[in-house]
Amino acid sequence: MKLTTFWGENLNPDCIGCYVGDETNFQQGRICQTKFWNLGQDIEIAYPGMLVFSPLRHIFSFEELTPDELQEWQQLMIKSKQAIREIFGCEKVAYAFYESSNLHIHFIIIPLHGEVKIKDKYAIIRELMDRADELRKDQQNLQRVFEVLAKMRQYFAKN
Ligand SMILES: [Zn+2]
Repeated sequence: MKLTTFWGENLNPDCIGCYVGDETNFQQGRICQTKFWNLGQDIEIAYPGMLVFSPLRHIFSFEELTPDELQEWQQLMIKSKQAIREIFGCEKVAYAFYESSNLHIHFIIIPLHGEVKIKDKYAIIRELMDRADELRKDQQNLQRVFEVLAKMRQYFAKN
């Protein structure tokens, strides 16, 4: 699958979930890695604090997650919400979860912090996909995304 990350890296991995989970890749977008999960900034959409949780195993469905993986995911989600609260002072978030027979599952949290004005929060993924180019070209926004990434890394390193 061909794509260009918002920081301008051209990729063509067999699976994006496996790509971001490979420790030798994806240094710029990763926040942290736990025993079972990779946590990173969304690779295509330069929205500050848009977090993607991918299991390190190449699995296609929610039912395949083990109790240990689920427990660790829950802890990561809770920490992520705390990090979002600390960094943005923001309580509102949107969630997305992707599952299909040929897609490495992943969960997404989007903080609704108001830094990027959203027209319809119930169609936020569609809106952000449509505005991906605009968000990439906005230098101030890009700077903010990397600033938030650095703060996220700090938060996860100390908590
Ligand atoms: Zn995969």
